[in-house]
Amino acid sequence: MIKLLIATNNPGKLQEYREILASLPMTLTSPADEGLTLDPAESGNTFEENAIIKAQAFARASGLLTLADDSGLEIDALDGEPGVYSARYGNTAKHDHMGRYQLVLKKLAAKNIPWAKRTARFRCVVALATREGLIGTAQGSVAGLITFEPQGNGGFGYDPIFFVPEFNHTLAEVSSEQKNSISHRARAVRAAVPMIEQACQEFLLQE
Ligand code: IMP
Repeated sequence: MIKLLIATNNPGKLQEYREILASLPMTLTSPADEGLTLDPAESGNTFEENAIIKAQAFARASGLLTLADDSGLEIDALDGEPGVYSARYGNTAKHDHMGRYQLVLKKLAAKNIPWAKRTARFRCVVALATREGLIGTAQGSVAGLITFEPQGNGGFGYDPIFFVPEFNHTLAEVSSEQKNSISHRARAVRAAVPMIEQACQEFLLQE
């Protein structure tokens, strides 16, 4: 069976990928499974550029069909921040996940942003590549509002401040199944399935 390398060592993300791609005739593998230790610099200005950088670097290093993603939170009242800097927003030496979402709340409070204007979205871009180069990208997003206070203990990152109207809760207050049913990552991966299937067939023909 063809191997598809998922270029992440985040166990939560790997599990999400396994569930969404379960029906594909492929064996999912991770950098850790393949003994790969590279950590390419995410030097792009967009999620798309960073996903492509990661997919190409891991495909070159492994020779495998490779899927990589980049994601983050865009807040309209902060001109799209934290955006591509979501994982390293603020002072990286000082701020952990909680520090980063507290910084977001502080910035919105300083600007007196009311509920109706606290619109935001999580966005994810996935990129598929082989050793020869990029095959393509797909994206997904989920819309919500930034709360005034953190709510809930589940999830990770900015989940406690991301309120989803259709759930009437933040992403930190819903089950992982509920989150995965609407998440930006799940939507991006689902949108990439036809591209992955096609690449898989071409790989089989080459063998
Ligand atoms: P990456 O795609 O793993 O590089 O994610 C970048 C950053 O975006 C993470 O470190 C989180 O801060 C944030 N982020 C991405 N996806 C989520 C999510 O589903 N919930 C909360 N935060 C997220």
